Amino acid sequence: MLPKMFDCSVMDGALLRGYEPNIKKITHSFAIPCETNSYIDYISIEHAIVPVVKYHIFDRFENLIHGCSTRQGGVSKSHLASMNLSSSRGDDILCVKENYRRFGEALSFDPNRLVCSDQVHSTNIYIATEEDAGRGTTEKEKLKEIDGIVTNVKNLPIMTFYADCVPLYFYDPVKEVIAMAHSGWRGTVNNIGGKMIILMQKQYNCNPRDIVCAIGPSICKACYEVSEDVAVAFADAYSPEQYKQMITAKDNNKYQLDLHMACYFNFMNAGICPSNIALPDYCTCCNPNVFFSHRATCGKRGNLGAVIMMRQ
Ligand SMILES: [Zn+2]
Repeated sequence: MLPKMFDCSVMDGALLRGYEPNIKKITHSFAIPCETNSYIDYISIEHAIVPVVKYHIFDRFENLIHGCSTRQGGVSKSHLASMNLSSSRGDDILCVKENYRRFGEALSFDPNRLVCSDQVHSTNIYIATEEDAGRGTTEKEKLKEIDGIVTNVKNLPIMTFYADCVPLYFYDPVKEVIAMAHSGWRGTVNNIGGKMIILMQKQYNCNPRDIVCAIGPSICKACYEVSEDVAVAFADAYSPEQYKQMITAKDNNKYQLDLHMACYFNFMNAGICPSNIALPDYCTCCNPNVFFSHRATCGKRGNLGAVIMMRQ
């Protein structure tokens, strides 16, 4: 769906290319419970149009805000163009600040209240409270060595960062708890998704049957070649049946790994209903004009942000 307003004066080339209707979608090798999982919402704000990837599975919750940024709709330049949400990748801090302002305005959250992770591919999860509001959009403010954030506080946006790794969204509408987790291959094989579900049960008395999850835009199986040590780690972590479904061995002693399926199994193994799991439609690496992709750019890239928040 194209936006009605089209202000070319604030758009860069990447953004204009983003309006091509042929953004490549992922074809999953396993059955998808939801027919259409995600969509790109082109949100008009003053001076810009900000595309945000959202999930239909969360649309019915009126008090819930969620979404993953694209690389479009911001003000950063060159390889960081244009919606870079990292202040540690050489960007002008004023550009990063303006990008946060735009993303916050598009989704109606206050960027000054953000709780953000400084990720290290761990399974460390932080329980955020009201006192954490504002930790924060700069490297100094972020939660150190944290890959998952959970909270039951309203009006407290929590955000994790991406450029191929997998964003995991969690929402329990019964106990009113939200969470985000950064699940790269290490986080996935060490089951940060399942550990988050267990923590939600212990901390907030959540029932897994109530929890709704989404797997955010990230690298697809066709783009994700891994070495043997990674494949062995997955073989050790999953049942032979599950392993067979997520990994394909190749002639060159390499493997193609389906992180989406692995994350799906982490949710399933933790007791989440299949109909409460939304899969991603967009691969970051297949669409490097739309998303930041570490693989597609050999690391010369900015950061996407995935956010979730309950309104007051
Ligand atoms: Zn891909």
